[in-house]
Amino acid sequence: MRILKPKSETNSPVTDDLHGLTSKYPETECFGLRDVNVEAGIVRFKFIKQLHLNKMKNTGIYIHIPFCRSKCYYCDFYSLPASGYSTETVDGYVTALERQILLLSEKYGKRISADTVFFGGGTPTLLEARHFEKIFSALEKAFDLTHNAEITVESNPCTLDCEKLTAMRTLGINRLSIGVQSFCDDELKTVGRLHSAKHANDAFFCARKSGFDNIGLDLILGLPGQTRESFLRTSEQAVLLAPEHISVYGLSLEEGTPLYNHRENYSFPDEETCADVFSDTVRYLRKNGYSRYEISNFSKEGYQCRHNLHYWHGDEYVGFGVAASSFYNGVRYTAKKDVSAFIRCRTAADFEALCVTEEVLGKEERAREYIMLSLRLSEGFSVNKLKELTRNSDFYLKRCEKYIENGLLVKKSGRIFFSDHGFEVSNSILSEILY
Ligand code: SF4
Repeated sequence: MRILKPKSETNSPVTDDLHGLTSKYPETECFGLRDVNVEAGIVRFKFIKQLHLNKMKNTGIYIHIPFCRSKCYYCDFYSLPASGYSTETVDGYVTALERQILLLSEKYGKRISADTVFFGGGTPTLLEARHFEKIFSALEKAFDLTHNAEITVESNPCTLDCEKLTAMRTLGINRLSIGVQSFCDDELKTVGRLHSAKHANDAFFCARKSGFDNIGLDLILGLPGQTRESFLRTSEQAVLLAPEHISVYGLSLEEGTPLYNHRENYSFPDEETCADVFSDTVRYLRKNGYSRYEISNFSKEGYQCRHNLHYWHGDEYVGFGVAASSFYNGVRYTAKKDVSAFIRCRTAADFEALCVTEEVLGKEERAREYIMLSLRLSEGFSVNKLKELTRNSDFYLKRCEKYIENGLLVKKSGRIFFSDHGFEVSNSILSEILY
């Protein structure tokens, strides 16, 4: 079996070269892009890159695997259920991914420096070891992976076993994100999850046994039938397992999903209860050693998800596969949601034709996105950086003042960030600051 060997950390000349391409815009390529999938369809991030501020930063690589065993009732992320694909489809998709990655390196004739790889979906753990091996082999040719690159795979507990996890670990995957969602079987069943609490526990122990020392668990708050007590049980069980990272996402009812279409048949906990439970959870997790470094994300020291930090810091990233997103040379791209068309792609032009340019950000939009993304993080935004981004920084800073006075925002050491209470009402404050 081939072992992924990340390259030593360097300031890649390629990264510089890519930055130099800014002037050539809009001839930049599309590598694909996507919203961050928290393996749940819960939170959507809008990305931005402040190119001129990130000259020497490494890139994040995202790879979308659009296959699931079945569709969970709340999920609107792009993935096909088992009835919509065959083994040949998965093989063909992985071959097309390999092609897309290699075409990137051919195009530039140089390699890009990257320090994170994130397999999201869908359910990436439906892939077999040979699929990962093929993708890694292409990544090795196209990118300089730093020696400590974070390589994450999102997973569904019912697709994990010790053999697969050991193979994944051997291939160099060093971070596992498990979509637990709840440790209450009734709640899991209500939203069409195929796994049980036992599956999730077993998967976790197998992952540990296989050598994963960086594991994240995703939980959902607001599931039908969920109560204060049942969520407490879920968070207690999560803490008992002692993962390095815990995400707590609020359920979002997305139009078109079965949960949305039949919402009157479900009994959802009310918003006030969810907000209370969330506040309790923040305190509980903190007491147990998990710092809240982002609105919905908690980690033990040194275990923040570095890939997602790329998004929140406005760094550059490239995505491969259908529905994948990239933010590159100041332009956002999204790849179309069409697996068959993706598999048919043979040339760089074919892949580019599958991409849609979403947005070209002007200076003011960059500044707004910088504030918006940075305020998701507990470290908030840098006043100096904002001043570099826009001549209108006073406009935003002035709007922050009243929230600093009433304690919803904190200003400290040249940065502005939300207090705990401010995080709870962050959406309304953000729209007041930005618009
Ligand atoms: S397993 Fe994850 S990606 Fe697949 S349908 Fe369920 S929530 Fe969506």
